[in-house]
Amino acid sequence: MAAKKKLKASKKKTDKKAKSAGKAGIRASATPKTKTAKTGTAGAAAGKAAGTDPKRVAAILAKLDEAYPQATCELKHGNAFQLLVATILSAQCTDVRVNQVTQELFKKYTTPQAFAYATPAELEQEIRPTGFFRNKTKSVMGASKEIVDKFGGQVPRTMEEMLTLPGVARKTANVVLGTAYGIPSGVVVDTHVIRLSRRLDLTRHEDPKKIEQDLMAIIPKEKWIQFSHQLIWHGRRVCFARKPKCAACNLEKLCYSKDKTV
Ligand code: SF4
Repeated sequence: MAAKKKLKASKKKTDKKAKSAGKAGIRASATPKTKTAKTGTAGAAAGKAAGTDPKRVAAILAKLDEAYPQATCELKHGNAFQLLVATILSAQCTDVRVNQVTQELFKKYTTPQAFAYATPAELEQEIRPTGFFRNKTKSVMGASKEIVDKFGGQVPRTMEEMLTLPGVARKTANVVLGTAYGIPSGVVVDTHVIRLSRRLDLTRHEDPKKIEQDLMAIIPKEKWIQFSHQLIWHGRRVCFARKPKCAACNLEKLCYSKDKTV
């Protein structure tokens, strides 16, 4: 009888263990599988970028300061409005080409009013070398009209207001607010910043909005403006899309991108 009771107790214990193991099994299989992300980083996994450890980020910022202490916007401008026009024209175009075009353009159109009431066909031909000239004419004239009608002829100073201007999205707004006014509204995410922040494993996203959010979370706010310029300079001078010059890169020891050439 005693032996029977012992056997029953032992069976109960085993059932309990099995049940618990079963639950754990369910929990384990419910955990999402880690996917390999197309991040441009060696052995990278999806989700939060592994390279965002504050010490590593600080080391990257220090190296960028060392390499590009004077980095700034390469679009020539005399004021916030001219920078806005130049930035709109810079979409899918080099800064060198934009600077050639604006050199003449700003002599002819000296105020937002002048752009707002330009003759569209004329302006189209004047900005034609920058590409997408019809859309750019609409954006430049539309933004100028808004600035004249709603903002007293001054480029607004907040992201919210900037985004009400035709042809202006976060990238353009960040360029103008940061460079012309020194307002750190965000991080400029252009083609260079997308490529480099992924190569440096500071983000795993591809969408510029998400990349900007990732960068704003790990870069101190007082560095947002300078960091954008520095990354763009590095992308133009060293970390090219094709064949980056890794042997000449002072970030090489911190970088484990699969695109590395050394
Ligand atoms: S090591 Fe190469 S890939 Fe990495 S940041 Fe430098 S240039 Fe770019």
